[in-house]
Amino acid sequence: RARPPLFLPLACGDAEGRLEALFGRVRAIQDKSGRFDMLLCVGNFFGSTSDTEWTEYRTGAKKAPIQTFVLGANDQETVRYFPDVSGCELAENITYLGRRGVFSSTSGLQIAYLSGTESQDEPAPAYSFSSKDVTELKTSLLSTPNFKGVDILLTSPWPRDVGNFANSPGKIDTKKCGSTLISDLAASLKPRYHFAALEKAYYERLPYRNHTVLQETPQHVSRFIALADVGNTSKKKYLYAFSIVPMSLMDPAELVKQPQDVTENPYRKSRKEAQKTKALVCEEPACQFFFDLNKHQGKKRPSDGKERGNSQPKQAKNPSQPTGPCWFCLASPEVEKHLVVSIGTHCYLALAKGGLLPDHVLILPIGHYQSVVDLSPEVMEEVTKYKSALKEFFRSKGKRYVLFERNYRSQHLQLQVIPVPLDCTSEDIKESFITQAQEQQIDLLEIPEHSDITQVARPGTPYFYVELDTGEKLFHRIRRSFPLQFGRAVLASPALLALPERADWRRCAAGRPEEAAQACAFRRDFQPFDLAPPE
Ligand SMILES: [Zn+2]
Repeated sequence: RARPPLFLPLACGDAEGRLEALFGRVRAIQDKSGRFDMLLCVGNFFGSTSDTEWTEYRTGAKKAPIQTFVLGANDQETVRYFPDVSGCELAENITYLGRRGVFSSTSGLQIAYLSGTESQDEPAPAYSFSSKDVTELKTSLLSTPNFKGVDILLTSPWPRDVGNFANSPGKIDTKKCGSTLISDLAASLKPRYHFAALEKAYYERLPYRNHTVLQETPQHVSRFIALADVGNTSKKKYLYAFSIVPMSLMDPAELVKQPQDVTENPYRKSRKEAQKTKALVCEEPACQFFFDLNKHQGKKRPSDGKERGNSQPKQAKNPSQPTGPCWFCLASPEVEKHLVVSIGTHCYLALAKGGLLPDHVLILPIGHYQSVVDLSPEVMEEVTKYKSALKEFFRSKGKRYVLFERNYRSQHLQLQVIPVPLDCTSEDIKESFITQAQEQQIDLLEIPEHSDITQVARPGTPYFYVELDTGEKLFHRIRRSFPLQFGRAVLASPALLALPERADWRRCAAGRPEEAAQACAFRRDFQPFDLAPPE
């Protein structure tokens, strides 16, 4: 009879030699829920003290109730249990997988494994792995044609930083504990399930994505699960049952489905590496981007209420919904994705369509907010970060930016950011705006530098304001009407950029390939100044 492609594995944390407790539990589960296919043990399978329970299995007096696969030693004391580094049967139904490698079942389930703890030494001690082991394991898999990822990854230590962008791992500090080599391995192997142990803690992380939104085609998500030690007295979970269809047998669309609670990848590459990737992406002529709608539907917590700790980020105030199609809600199909140049947590940057200059950029909230005054504090904080990043970016190019917002006959907040040469002083800029405003009977008033725009404008009241990268601000409360192109016209005027032919954006339309090329160039140049991944 052909085996159905659905696998039912069990995964287990540190057994510590407590085999009676472990196999007793497995038997009970199998009696209740039916047969499982295999038991995958991560962490310390053997304890460093008593051998009595093990002896019964080793001699065949007792037999494991399920095909059991274990990882190797994590310390010198238990090295003696593993006679062959390339893997071997330790007892009937109990197999040591080996130091590192990939185990593939006949029906296509792929399990990558790495035994031991991280070592800086080369060669690593028998109970450790080194960067060379990780590189070789990665190479053997990544060099296979059309490599998408592995079904399961087994390691003993946690990956460093696995808690980034995630639900709280409780008392475990994932910035300090765990192995950076394992983070690197997991980032490359993209396991659908990654199990680890050694911390005597149970932690099921929210699933994370393996692709960069807007830059790569969607890929499957990864789930990291850390298991506690067998028979622990605080009843922490040490045995995990799941079902899995090998990814090689799955419908590709089904495989890349993104759950609602998916998060960013916790092992996001360093900026330098990211820059390399971006450069490569931008060389593609089509400069095609993909967008994952799930990202911005809010992060859900696991239904298990116990996980809620004080460390959870506060839920952001829900932005209002647009009344019709919106060109700037990032999740909206109307968004011109090829113009997007940076995405943060709450905000994004996009080049202006028909911009005054090729680096005329907009700061936009991802959700639907009408004006700066309506922003929640989290969103406002990120707007401020983007302003500083853009200030530095333009200053590095010998420019300063002028920012303006028109909260009048616009439905989605757009902060227009336009660079001018540094030799246009703050005084020149303010004077140009004030003079040209006066000519049109517009009162543009300077407001105190450190005052917040929200103190001057009231929600729901139309206004126009200009802000320099020094923090200086000019404000006008719109009473009846306002020239829609005012901000742009002042910047295009002879007093500032002297680009009268570009004053009207509708006359500046560029073809899509040109727009995409400009966006690529901007992304590449802005990369070193872009916001750091949120902590
Ligand atoms: Zn919108």
